[in-house]
Amino acid sequence: MNQSDIKRLAVVGSTGSIGTQTLDIVERFPQLYSVSVLSAGSRVEPLVEQALKFRPALAVIADESKLPQLREALAPAGIATAAGPEALAEAMTRDDVDMAVTATVGYSGLEPTIRAIGAGKDIALANKETLVVAGDLVNRLLKKSPTKIYPVDSEHSAVAQCLVGETADSVRRLIITASGGPFRTWDAARLANATVADALRHPNWSMGAKITVDSATMLNKAFELIEAHYLFGIEPRRIRAVVHPQSIVHSMVEFKDGAIKAQLGVPDMRLPIAYALGCHSRLDQAAPRLTLEQMSSLTFEEPDLDKFPCLTLARTAMDRGGNTACVINAANEVANLAFRQGRLPYSGIYDVITATLDRVAHIAEPEYADYVATNDEACAIAAALVDKY
Ligand code: NAD
Ligand code: MG
Repeated sequence: MNQSDIKRLAVVGSTGSIGTQTLDIVERFPQLYSVSVLSAGSRVEPLVEQALKFRPALAVIADESKLPQLREALAPAGIATAAGPEALAEAMTRDDVDMAVTATVGYSGLEPTIRAIGAGKDIALANKETLVVAGDLVNRLLKKSPTKIYPVDSEHSAVAQCLVGETADSVRRLIITASGGPFRTWDAARLANATVADALRHPNWSMGAKITVDSATMLNKAFELIEAHYLFGIEPRRIRAVVHPQSIVHSMVEFKDGAIKAQLGVPDMRLPIAYALGCHSRLDQAAPRLTLEQMSSLTFEEPDLDKFPCLTLARTAMDRGGNTACVINAANEVANLAFRQGRLPYSGIYDVITATLDRVAHIAEPEYADYVATNDEACAIAAALVDKY
């Protein structure tokens, strides 16, 4: 930490849903946080606007063709600029960064996370795909680094809060809650004709488009079961998903004596974001308060695996291990985008993922280069499957 005790952040994906909510916390608590690096995928305007407001030392854009535009806008303000995935990853290692906030979407979160771990930076991890793709590798790297990972995902933040003061051997199981998404009450016939607009209408959360569609297929929950396994070191059979349509209980931990602890709050990501930025300390009113009325009806039900087959992919991924989850993630990135672009029907998402799984060679103990190769291969196969669908 620097002398003034202000924590200096590098926000990867600062213009997205998690990124902007992170900056909302920074803006409200300037005595605690400042920003050294801001970065976005390809849209220059919102990045420029953020940079002029938060004055980072460096602004990075992943899309290299946009660098001249970014430089022209920020050079007069004395803000350095860079472009491309390598520049982004390198930015995580800067001396003026105390914590990396990984708020980018999909596979693009892996490299910056690995570099942040290599440089011993703490990480507020929103990008769950990093742990889905390469959880084993990340955990191996963490063993050799002072880095600590603080989960931003609301369910994992809830589990972390429930585990405070507990010992590992007292935990019986983790109960990860799921809203059930927009299609929870739809029957199979209606679901077959689900449109992009339907999938993007999440009942409780306002999020980026990719994760909103992942929530509609419930693959997001499968990813969160995998994420929980790697974050908390609990075997897959002791982690289950339960549907809780109100999204007030953000997850629970059951202990060996029969006690269950739950964390409750309004569905507002600023609460888990603030808890992660503070390395599990609490800020005053990070998010609106929960009222007793909002807690008056809390219901729980079993997920319907026939209707949401993507949820079963968590078990497939963890049973087979190795590069399996990396394949699932890559195929989903392609299928999810194709669905959003109107090139694939809703039901095609699961079909493309499983067909890709059948075609990519299994690697039992992948190294970093194997994950890169698996991701490339699975993306290419999934793209061809989408074209033929
Ligand atoms: P988003 O689509 O709103 O934002 C993504 C951000 O990443 C944008 O700033 C975009 O410019 C940037 N980006 C995209 N591609 C990039 C690339 N190749 N390189 C660098 N930057 C790139 O997404 P989001 O909803 O904020 O989600 C971000 C991550 O947080 C995802 O992994 C998601 O699963 C996770 N998450 C989100 C929420 C939520 O409420 N939004 C909740 C839990 C977890
Ligand atoms: Mg979540």
